[in-house]
Amino acid sequence: MALSGVEIFKHLPKTNCKKCGYPTCLAFAMKLAALQESTDKCPDLSEEAKKFLGAAAEPPIRGITLGGRGVKVGEETVLFRHEKKFVNPCPIALNIKDTEGADAITKHIADVNSSEIDKVGQMLRVDLVCVTDESGDPARFAAVVKQVADGAPNAGLILNSSSPASIEAAIAHCADKRPLVYGANAENLDAMVKIAKEKKVALGIYAKGLDALSDLSEKVKGMGVTDIVLDSGARTAKEMVEEYTMIRRAALKKSFKPLGFPVISFVSRDDSVLEAAVASIGIMKYASIIVVNSIEKWKTLALLTLRQNIYTDPQVPMQVEQKIYKIGDANENSPLLVTTNFSLTYFIVRGEIENSKVPCWLAIMNVEGLSVLTAWAAGKFVAGSIANFIKESEAPKLVAKKELILPGYVSVLSGSLEDKLGDGWKVVVGPREANQLPAFLKGRAA
Ligand code: SF4
Repeated sequence: MALSGVEIFKHLPKTNCKKCGYPTCLAFAMKLAALQESTDKCPDLSEEAKKFLGAAAEPPIRGITLGGRGVKVGEETVLFRHEKKFVNPCPIALNIKDTEGADAITKHIADVNSSEIDKVGQMLRVDLVCVTDESGDPARFAAVVKQVADGAPNAGLILNSSSPASIEAAIAHCADKRPLVYGANAENLDAMVKIAKEKKVALGIYAKGLDALSDLSEKVKGMGVTDIVLDSGARTAKEMVEEYTMIRRAALKKSFKPLGFPVISFVSRDDSVLEAAVASIGIMKYASIIVVNSIEKWKTLALLTLRQNIYTDPQVPMQVEQKIYKIGDANENSPLLVTTNFSLTYFIVRGEIENSKVPCWLAIMNVEGLSVLTAWAAGKFVAGSIANFIKESEAPKLVAKKELILPGYVSVLSGSLEDKLGDGWKVVVGPREANQLPAFLKGRAA
């Protein structure tokens, strides 16, 4: 039964205390209705309300926050991104075996720490490290986990071992980072559940095949662990697509609770190119966490870019902040250009200005993320609004010469914009295409 936000709101305490992280009970109710939040977040919910809202207000796939920077996984509500959007980008985890030499581990840690990429205004990075207990030696495993926890303090951790003794030894060094404990199975279940409950961490469970995995997940939940991450044992690309799709479908379309959890995908391969290809499939088809053996720059760039594409809301244009951007060593004699705050427009125009090596001021106007022509057609990038934006911005103080360069596509606005700006402002029509900017700017500077 799906409940509307208003129906859910009627059952909330209505104190707007913000303990759930939302400014009002109504905002929280809307999130519950969108199946993007859990009733657990409201500590003041009555037992009666909990019972009523029950499963109706639970996300079909539970959201789990992992340590480090607090990366959230799960909480997806659709099978296809065009239906709505995918919510929580799957983190990439670098696998480090505890049998690797000290130098190799140090290099892995350095690679994780330097993995950040600025991609159209978003900072993307490798968020997790998965330490794998290859040695079977709790002391060794714990030592490597400590080295990673100390060396990469912002990365979240996955403790990968089926040995409760190894997990016990390692978690002592990183419990505050709320690692994902991975490796509960039918054999070690009691001990692993005990650790997860005591340390209040998420538990990764493994069973081969979806029937066995569902049974195990029910059992773990019955034992009191609610933050569960699933591994069905899918390792080939074919198995991944089939099983992850069935898991997502069962959770979303059948409300099948035993599979309503994030999925961890071990795509690790010795062949780095093959690993990148298989990881790409995981990103596109429903893996919530992807574990890889290596994070060369080329691979990280490819995987994070793909993930960014998949997890960008197709209904909301990407935007940058409205302000006057200084490019290069711009001063009061530098040209002032104006354009819209569509991310792609901003980054392309900025890139071409940088290519020109002519320092400039770039005035970015908020038009809700539309491109120049679309914003003009929608009546958002027109003479009156551009003039108001420029006059109210700091632009008049930044440039000595009152001259504004307008995108060539809206040259039709130049006369009326000059009138609206008044006060001696002159409007110059710039090129239509951004790639013509270097020649244009260099020609004017000459
Ligand atoms: Fe309302 Fe509960 Fe959120 Fe407080 S914690 S604002 S009572 S929903």
